[in-house]
Amino acid sequence: MVSLIKKEDTSITEEATHPVLEHAGSGIPTPTLFEWNRPFFEGGLQGKLRLQRCARCKQLIYYPRMLCPRCFSPDYEWEQLSGRGTVYSFAIVWRPNHPAFTDQIPVLLAVVELSEGPQMVSTLLGCAPEQVSIGMEVSVVFDTIAPDVALPKFVPQT
Ligand SMILES: [Zn+2]
Repeated sequence: MVSLIKKEDTSITEEATHPVLEHAGSGIPTPTLFEWNRPFFEGGLQGKLRLQRCARCKQLIYYPRMLCPRCFSPDYEWEQLSGRGTVYSFAIVWRPNHPAFTDQIPVLLAVVELSEGPQMVSTLLGCAPEQVSIGMEVSVVFDTIAPDVALPKFVPQT
């Protein structure tokens, strides 16, 4: 299980909205960054959960993409969200799909319904599998897996 150790460098976390954890250099596969997804992953470095909001139909968009999946508009703005939500569904993963995840078994894979509406596929940290329940309130933390990539993950709300 991933330990919840905050980064030593407090220059970023002091202004962070949500905790930013350090996991860089662990061999975890990283996403390719483009203009249209970079703010999502870089926002995490600042402890901020951001999603695109379509400028035409106003739908929040998860996961980041070039076009709105509802109306196909290429115009969007980045919006900062609360970082709060509830567990919509979850699975306990005992077999890693990549060697880099071996030390994280069991992984609590979850669909988190954000307070703002979108459902986000993510990972739960800071709780044992038997503690997870549907509807459990969670809040975001960020796992830094590369210098320019922090992934949103969730912990039980305290
Ligand atoms: Zn749209």
